[in-house]
Amino acid sequence: MRKTLLTLTAVCAAVVAVQAQITKPAIPRDAALEAKVEKTLAKMTLDEKIGQMLELNLDVMGKMKVENAKIDREKVRGVMQQFGASDADIEKMLKMTDAEILEKMGDYPIDIYQGETKRNWQLNEVMLDTLISKWKVGSILNAPGTRAPSIEQWQKWITLIQEKSMKYLGIPDIYGLDHNHGVTYTQGGTLFPQPINLGASFNTELARRGAEITAYESRAANCPWVYNPVVDLSRDPRWPRVYESFGEDAIVNSKMVVAEIRGYQGDDNNHIDQYHVGTSTKHYFAYGAPWSGKDRTPAYLNPQMIREKYFEPFKAAALAGTLTMMVNSASVNGVPLHASYEYMTKWLKEDLQWDGFLVTDWADINNLFSREKVAKDKKDAIRIAINAGIDMSMDPYSVEFCILLKELVNEGKVKMERIDDAVRRILRAKYRLGLFEQPNTGGKGFEKFGCEEFANASLKAAEESEVLLKNEGNILPLAKGKKILLTGPNANQMRCLHGGWSYTWQGSKAEDLSEKYNTIYEALCNKYGKENIILEQGVTYDEDKAYYDENKPQIEKAVAAAAKADIIIAAIGENSYTETPGNLTDLWLSENQRNLVKELAKTGKPIILVLNEGRPRLIADIEPLAKAVVDILIPGNYGGDALANLLAGDVNFSAKLPYTYPREINSLNTYDYKVSEEVGTMAGAYNYDAKVSLQWPFGYGLSYTTYEYSNLKVDKAQFTADDVLKVTVDVKNTGAKAGKEAVLLYSSDLVASVVPDNKRLRDFTKIELQPGEVKTVTFELPAKSLAFVGADGKWTLEEGDFVLKIGDQTVNAVCTQTKTWETPNI
Ligand code: BGC
Repeated sequence: MRKTLLTLTAVCAAVVAVQAQITKPAIPRDAALEAKVEKTLAKMTLDEKIGQMLELNLDVMGKMKVENAKIDREKVRGVMQQFGASDADIEKMLKMTDAEILEKMGDYPIDIYQGETKRNWQLNEVMLDTLISKWKVGSILNAPGTRAPSIEQWQKWITLIQEKSMKYLGIPDIYGLDHNHGVTYTQGGTLFPQPINLGASFNTELARRGAEITAYESRAANCPWVYNPVVDLSRDPRWPRVYESFGEDAIVNSKMVVAEIRGYQGDDNNHIDQYHVGTSTKHYFAYGAPWSGKDRTPAYLNPQMIREKYFEPFKAAALAGTLTMMVNSASVNGVPLHASYEYMTKWLKEDLQWDGFLVTDWADINNLFSREKVAKDKKDAIRIAINAGIDMSMDPYSVEFCILLKELVNEGKVKMERIDDAVRRILRAKYRLGLFEQPNTGGKGFEKFGCEEFANASLKAAEESEVLLKNEGNILPLAKGKKILLTGPNANQMRCLHGGWSYTWQGSKAEDLSEKYNTIYEALCNKYGKENIILEQGVTYDEDKAYYDENKPQIEKAVAAAAKADIIIAAIGENSYTETPGNLTDLWLSENQRNLVKELAKTGKPIILVLNEGRPRLIADIEPLAKAVVDILIPGNYGGDALANLLAGDVNFSAKLPYTYPREINSLNTYDYKVSEEVGTMAGAYNYDAKVSLQWPFGYGLSYTTYEYSNLKVDKAQFTADDVLKVTVDVKNTGAKAGKEAVLLYSSDLVASVVPDNKRLRDFTKIELQPGEVKTVTFELPAKSLAFVGADGKWTLEEGDFVLKIGDQTVNAVCTQTKTWETPNI
């Protein structure tokens, strides 16, 4: 008896100790809302609960009708090669009749046809009825054939889905779209620069406003849920989705995600109004760190990197109240995220008390057995994923999930409590979005959809996100009245400016939907007069093949045209892509494009390189040939206009690189590399070659004015973990032009028990300064944010010297007492 009592006391003490560490739920619980969730849950059958946990692709509820379809077999071969199909499978497909190929590939957003075709998707109401009444499906996603429909079409389809959901289930559907940088999948809406550009702007307000507008335009299309923000740290330039996040740094991604969640969801996460939407922060986590550089392949990361960097922006998103998160398709250290109880349940739902729901990425439960081989079949995969913490399965084309999960529950392999927990989370999100009260927005009251005010916000974001990297002899701004040769494959295409996830999944075959916006050529004609711009591209992309395929170059034509020009602008880079089709095998910019620049350089005419690319492609051999370099990244629909304004000097440059731009293929570093990664040259006998060799560092960017930093001070020369350091610096505009300057605060831990990072960004802000103006910038830096994760996996702040750095200024501060935390988060 005594023993039992003692044990009980010990258990109680342990529970109290653990509870003391638990953070409060990120979104304060609303008792009335929670009561509604419980009431609804109590009435549901097991079939209804399981149906809520399934998300289907809209494509399965209709049919794509392709008129006049004659198959082009070479295009079929190209597409299949691009997706990595085996030669045998390709040959098998090519032997089929047109009708058979159409049946197999016709629903996909790819061009496999001879000449122009008309594609028209039709919703099959009987199918929709069955899927909702019989299978009780709780969520649907995507645009048919992944091509943007009009708002009217969305209103019609989603309203029908909601009517059937309310009729058969009494529970609204939660419809999700990849509205990533504006309303990707809605015609006529506003597309913003891609997130990598927002990272380059270092302006969180631009991110917030863009998200707010996207939320409004999504609801205009009756869509309440977006698969954004993306905070996969882009730390490997080989990965095809670098441009989809805010760059390589954890703090930049964290501050941007918090701003965007506010923009999307509004100020009250429990009561999201009809002009705001729910977010799905993705892809939880370390998706951007594939060992092979290829999409959806394994990452191998040490515990410090995971906790301090890759997890950080997701933690920020959870605490900011993101309603949902989407999980990384790949694995970390051999464990697929979709199978990780520790990462999904422990880290997010328990440690952070995050009460949103986790949705899989595309068919990823299937991938647990078909690709990752951690499950023996689909049923085993469902058991693993649901028990690990997945709440909703995006299983786009099948309802098998419902059958198998029901069997698992009946066999006791998935507990009813787990099902209830998942469904509670899904219902909570639907209540928070107000969908029970108002399943449809009706489309009225959205007069601002695609309006000029929104266009201006997109233009401003583009202007603040194009980075000036070189400006020899102040060749820029470019005065009017000169003859300009505009060359390169990116010179006259909207596709390159808006990138992947724009009207279509890959951003391809959508020129008809972006006709009204200006390409670089059109924007330069508007700015400098058509008579002053000679367009001779020299290299063009082959739109019928993979994104990297180019037509036979005509460099000599561009060289001949240069004779008539005073200056050359070479718009080079990449065509649009995303996900696996965006994989590459060589980080160098294409040989044709580099040859174009090399041949043009021989003319002696000054060259301005305009880089328009989703990730930093190597250009070390052509950069010295250019007088100026501007990296416009992927600036969206107004990116051409923004470039013209910047080149002409009507607007000042203010962006800085959100990632490290590599110079050499074997030096792919991030700015926060470990100090020992750079061995340098040893004096005397040896000549070591372990240098960090960069084209341009993270945070680098020029402007038409100059800034001087002075008086960097920290209010406490000595500190301990509980202190907040007040760091101040004066910034002066010493040039003749007004400008905006991103002020970045770094720290370095000089000696630590784990090899310290070279430096770490701790905070940033952006200020505007008139010529001669001085502003004092103040950062409040909690001392504990200088802690790192030690070899024992625990957060620790060690006594010793730290250097704080802003601009060219440094100041020292000393931590006088080591502190180690027992909690997973601090
Ligand atoms: C992508 C996600 C996207 C999902 C739904 C997946 O293939 O990885 O980013 O949200 O598809 O379209």
